Amino acid sequence: DHDSQLNPVEGLAADAESAIHQAVAAARLAFTPPMSLEDRLERLDRLEAMVRERADDFVEALALDLGKHPTEAWATEIGTVLAEIAHLRQLLPQWVRPHKVPAAASLAPSRSWVENQPLGTVLIIAPWNYPVQLLLSPLAGALAAGNTAVVKPSEVTPHVAEALAAALPEYLGEAVGVVTGGVPETTRVLQHRFDHVFYTGNGTVARVVMEAAARYLTPVTLELGGKSPAWIDATVDLPVAAQRIAWAKFLNAGQTCVAPDYVLGPPEVLAQLEPLLVSAIRKLYGTDPAVSESYGRIVTGRHLSKLTDLMNLVDPEDVVTGGGVDASQRYLAPTVIRSAVDGPFMQDEIFGPVLPLVPVDDHRAALDVINAGEKPLALYVFSQDDDVRTAFREETSSGGLVMGAALVHLAHPQLPFGGVGGSGIGNYHGRYSLEAFSHQRAVLDKPLTPDTLKAVYPPYGPLKSKL
Ligand code: NAD
Repeated sequence: DHDSQLNPVEGLAADAESAIHQAVAAARLAFTPPMSLEDRLERLDRLEAMVRERADDFVEALALDLGKHPTEAWATEIGTVLAEIAHLRQLLPQWVRPHKVPAAASLAPSRSWVENQPLGTVLIIAPWNYPVQLLLSPLAGALAAGNTAVVKPSEVTPHVAEALAAALPEYLGEAVGVVTGGVPETTRVLQHRFDHVFYTGNGTVARVVMEAAARYLTPVTLELGGKSPAWIDATVDLPVAAQRIAWAKFLNAGQTCVAPDYVLGPPEVLAQLEPLLVSAIRKLYGTDPAVSESYGRIVTGRHLSKLTDLMNLVDPEDVVTGGGVDASQRYLAPTVIRSAVDGPFMQDEIFGPVLPLVPVDDHRAALDVINAGEKPLALYVFSQDDDVRTAFREETSSGGLVMGAALVHLAHPQLPFGGVGGSGIGNYHGRYSLEAFSHQRAVLDKPLTPDTLKAVYPPYGPLKSKL
């Protein structure tokens, strides 16, 4: 048993140690192929029942951890998971069927097909920003593909972690083990062998995850972040664009992996955009967002301090709107600032409600800024100019590209969701989840007679053709 090779983990309590061991062992035992269509649908039914029956618990936990309004919790977490389950259910009958491929003349007589097999037991490590969706949505894919799973909710959102840890065993039994806790627990669980590891979070931890997986040659999906830029120019309806950008940026108080991180545009366009963003924010959250029930909170005091430390480096003259802080409420106002390309908020992913407007000469200069950084998770282009749109499509790379809006590509069930380069490895959602959590096995069936393979056996004759 490879478990005997597990290294000691500092700070890991003995009871946590055995709980992790049990969760992993039980999930492994619960993987009992063949996984029929009915078995898979049954697990999806149970997951769906859990989401529906425990929705109020999740909504309450999301309000406590992130100040999420119930409507937003349904729109971006609970409803999203239910839609994903429904979509997977539709795809499954086709997915579980062997897919015939045309016979190869050189191998005749024979028949060939591809079978989608479950991988086994997978590990899913979730972040805190959409802590329900980003755990249950990959889990739905893993179960639909016929796997069992061990899941690790983020300790940063403790109420959600607790609600998930209470509900999952009740509805899914041993098929889904839950490991709660922080770094020591995650470190330990990563020492176990899995058949796939699915991690959502930041690039630093992603490297730890990939290294741990390498020990067993376990494949990984890494759903990461980074700075997702938006380009805007004078060819678009600026008030509508401002409203869409403000909504996408300040949703969940800016703690969205695909939030527009900063806006690039010609100086005169950004000058026009400033008052439009101010009124867009007012429409969303009123004159005082601190009292708006629709506006979220920063997840912890530590995350808030990182943002306010950066705010302190911004010249007050460059603050277009916002900047207000109430640490006791973990509140940071929706904030728009003017920034240079190398300003304080332009180093790392912001992951908070601060929107820098960064002037550049033209779209070519914007392409240079974007291509100087890691490939983003999302890129947003607000332009009606065909040449500009083509340039962004052809001369950049990013996980996703949306023209005329932001964020909404996540809501399309047929589109893959994932990053490239620094923003991640692999995709999921719908059929891409099924692919991520399956092995596509090549199968060939050849009768022993006639023995047509004779033609290729040695001893060889003279070379007749070089093909
Ligand atoms: P996080 O801190 O909650 O980390 C995610 C998980 O990693 C947690 O379960 C945590 O326990 C574990 N972890 C943390 N440190 C660890 C360590 N040293 N060793 C082992 N495990 C460890 O989440 P986060 O990284 O703060 O989330 C924010 C990031 O996630 C942002 O960069 C954001 O863009 C990205 N993100 C990406 C997506 C996506 O779908 N691509 C979605 C949401 C967030």
